[in-house]
Amino acid sequence: MAEPIAATEALHREYETGDAVVHALQGVDVRIDRGELTVVHGRSGSGKTTLLNMIGGLDRPTRGRVWVDGAEVSAMGEDELVRLRREKIGFVFQAFGLVPILTAAENVEVPLRLRNEQPGARTKRVGELLELVGLAGRARHRPYELSGGEQQRVAIVRALANRPKLLIADEPTGQLDSSNARTIMEVIRELVRSEGVSAIVATHDPLLLDVADRVVELRDGEAV
Ligand code: ADP
Ligand code: MG
Repeated sequence: MAEPIAATEALHREYETGDAVVHALQGVDVRIDRGELTVVHGRSGSGKTTLLNMIGGLDRPTRGRVWVDGAEVSAMGEDELVRLRREKIGFVFQAFGLVPILTAAENVEVPLRLRNEQPGARTKRVGELLELVGLAGRARHRPYELSGGEQQRVAIVRALANRPKLLIADEPTGQLDSSNARTIMEVIRELVRSEGVSAIVATHDPLLLDVADRVVELRDGEAV
């Protein structure tokens, strides 16, 4: 079997709140295969965000282990985590998170500038990405001139600008109506194919599971 892009072993995360302890993850073992779209599904509070944050190196497990691309994330120091997030992972969140004063194209360009890519290469990559999500004609628009679905498409290709190996999207459709939500899932589906990226997408919406190659179902912090 090929090495998975990400995996967890006996993963636990507990949050202490006052005198109570919340068991957000209680021994989760998952395996995320390369080149696949894995959807993490479960009700609100089932542990989806916690699991994605552990895999993305945004938070640390209480116990258990996490690997991404063969490296043990749960054993990394802060500098290594920063490098992992910058070089291997693209993040997308429910709230789009575009920079309001920048155009769609400039938003997508930000990560390329941070990597000191040459201007010609940046323009080419930005154009190709916006084209992929049907927004070539919107390149010079600012976020407030775009619909929610369009803003999320910009955020998704911004996350892919540096060709990460893994796209992590936490409820990317949470602020969208059902038709835009479906479009976003299909866009991610298509990018997994065309860009060869692996993706983990969390959603509580059962109607979006059909685009997945694999579904991880969480219930009360356990994979079922
Ligand atoms: P989901 O994303 O599926 O809605 P979460 O991973 O956000 O679930 O939360 C799982 C559980 O952990 C919930 O009971 C939630 O209230 C709790 N939780 C999440 N983050 C924190 C935190 N920072 N402090 C305390 N409890 C938390
Ligand atoms: Mg969540």
